[in-house]
Amino acid sequence: MPNPKRKHTPMRRDKRRSQNWKLEVKSLSACGQCGALRLPHRVCPSCGFYNGKLEVARKAAKTEEGKDQK
Ligand SMILES: [Zn+2]
Repeated sequence: MPNPKRKHTPMRRDKRRSQNWKLEVKSLSACGQCGALRLPHRVCPSCGFYNGKLEVARKAAKTEEGKDQK
């Protein structure tokens, strides 16, 4: 079995490991109801709609009410 002739330096090791943090770019799609960016196949976080139906009561409305109460 071929083996590496020399141990990699810490700098080389760390450069390799530092490349992984920026690779994940989450794909976003526009909500059909409000047009906000949301993750595909998820309930829209801004309006609570999924597939044209209201699935989750609006968090935004609740927060707006909370702000009005304060
Ligand atoms: Zn929406």
